[in-house]
This record gives sequence, C-alpha cells and structure tokens, in this order.
Amino acid sequence: MSNNCIFCKIAAGEIPCEKIYEDELIIAFRDIAPVAPVHVLLVPKVHIQSANEITSENSHIVARIFEVASNLALELGIAESGYRIVNNCGADGGQTVAHLHFHLIAGRAGGGMY
Ligand code: AMP
Ligand code: ZN
Repeated sequence: MSNNCIFCKIAAGEIPCEKIYEDELIIAFRDIAPVAPVHVLLVPKVHIQSANEITSENSHIVARIFEVASNLALELGIAESGYRIVNNCGADGGQTVAHLHFHLIAGRAGGGMY
C-alpha cells in the first residue's frame, strides 16, 4: 500500500467502488466518470506506479489483467462488438492516478487513438 494512493485504498476496501471482479492479484471496478457505456478499470492490488514499472517480477499481474479483461468482455457482452484496453502512462500519456491501471472501454462505435 502506498500512502494516499486512491487505488491502493480501493484495493484494500478502504474506499468503496462498484466492484465487478476480484482475485488475489487484481481488482476490477466501474470507472467513476465513464466515457462510454462500459468503462471498467483493471487494477493490480500491489502498488505499481505506471507502465514504466512493469518488470519480469510483476508482469504476471499484467498478464492476469488481460486474461480477466477478456473474460469480463464476454460477461459484459462486448466481446463480439469489440472494445479498447487503454493504459495511460505519465503526464504526456494523460495518467491522472499514479497506480497502474488499464481501462476496458466499450459500447460506443469507433475506437481510434483518441
Ligand atoms: P487515468 O487518467 O488513465 O489515470 O485514469 C484514471 C481514471 O480513474 C479516470 O478515468 C477516473 O475517472 C478514474 N477514477 C478516479 N477516481 C476513481 C474512483 N474513486 N473510483 C472509480 N474510478 C475512479
Ligand atoms: Zn497505489
């Protein structure tokens, strides 16, 4: 747990969230400000600051995130229609929460870069 990290606090159950999945490595919950009808955040339980801190020691957590995203896409009914998995890294990447997370976004036609 990193002090004053909102996603560490959500993972620890100290701040409520609309949880849709949890296991020993990750938690997934609805984004508080959705940009599309489906907007879920997939978050490691351990504090990893950003994609810059992905290493051979923790990359299994990222693999789990993509495995769960794929399963959630089926459950949420977006596997066929399609979705985006987005990571924002650092200031120029638009990262606003300094705890690694991946956005699962769907339900609106047209993906693209922005
Ligand atoms: P990013 O800009 O990639 O760092 O994404 C951070 C995301 O976290 C934004 O889409 C926010 O809407 C979302 N967010 C911030 N606080 C919360 C919260 N308490 N519960 C759910 N989502 C949140
Ligand atoms: Zn954290």
